Amino acid sequence: SNYLETLSQVKTVVFDKTGTLTQGVFEVSGVHHSEMENEKLLEYAALAECASSHPISKSLQRAYGKAIDRDRVRDIQEISGKGVSAVVDGHAVLAGNDKLMALRGIPFIGCHSVGTIIHIAIDGQYAGHIVISDVVKPEAAEAIRQLKTLGVKKTVMLTGDKKDTAEAVRRETGVDEAYSQLMPQDKVSRVEDLLGEEHTVAFVGDGINDAPVLSRADLGIAMGAMGSDAAIEAADVVLMDDHLDRLPKAISISRRTMRIVHENIIFSLAVKGIVLVLSALGLVNMWIAVFADVGVLILAVLNAMRTLRG
Ligand code: ADP
Ligand code: MG
Repeated sequence: SNYLETLSQVKTVVFDKTGTLTQGVFEVSGVHHSEMENEKLLEYAALAECASSHPISKSLQRAYGKAIDRDRVRDIQEISGKGVSAVVDGHAVLAGNDKLMALRGIPFIGCHSVGTIIHIAIDGQYAGHIVISDVVKPEAAEAIRQLKTLGVKKTVMLTGDKKDTAEAVRRETGVDEAYSQLMPQDKVSRVEDLLGEEHTVAFVGDGINDAPVLSRADLGIAMGAMGSDAAIEAADVVLMDDHLDRLPKAISISRRTMRIVHENIIFSLAVKGIVLVLSALGLVNMWIAVFADVGVLILAVLNAMRTLRG
């Protein structure tokens, strides 16, 4: 019930990008600067990513399309907000973004295509990059618009992805502000800044990285179908089917529920107050006293049952 109350007061909604505003189902749209066959590069990437539950990893495994033999892969490490490293067929493979390449001191070739770029390095040598693209959820723009109508003052998007990808998603969804290239800990500090500016802040996310932010925000909302177990565990509210239009709906339900709760509190206290005063003056009989107690209770329960409708 406390989360329902918080939900009814939400003023700022912060979204994670991948898997929350977007479907998190990437299609491979290109393979560039690869010395080896594209298929081979994708194979290395998919094998290195075989243990991660990140939407990017799942998409690369799907694009590869063949069964993955996990015995070929060892020493898998996920570097959150950056990518993965693993040893595939005895070769050290890195798959991730610019930051991962910079971290491991590998010179990489930038890319002008729109989308998320996964650079691959094999045995410390740059091996090319895979461009993958994600699509915005069809209901996202409408859900953001409805949140505005419900009096949400600010909508914000946080992502670890590049600036231009973030900006494209911001325009398409109509979110007020977008912050890109954030590490998981940067997302926490962004949310803390927003908590300082205004209450009440809700964060909507799906990933393992999002767990700290989900617990830090006044209200954490996770995606139930796509979301990682860590995110679902850390969240206060779970959208079971990942549909963003459930969000304005949840806020409406919470407002209506709070209205009914307040009606009941005022009604019960008022009747009891009046009967108390009248009884002090010797003006009530036993039946009125019974009504003030059990009668009011039954009416309040009947009123509360309205929450079951709609
Ligand atoms: P978002 O904020 O969009 O949910 P994350 O914080 O999970 O994204 O990741 C940020 C960036 O880090 C991704 O856009 C990608 O470039 C890189 N990245 C994260 N995890 C992986 C992975 N498993 N494989 C490749 N790249 C990854
Ligand atoms: Mg994410």
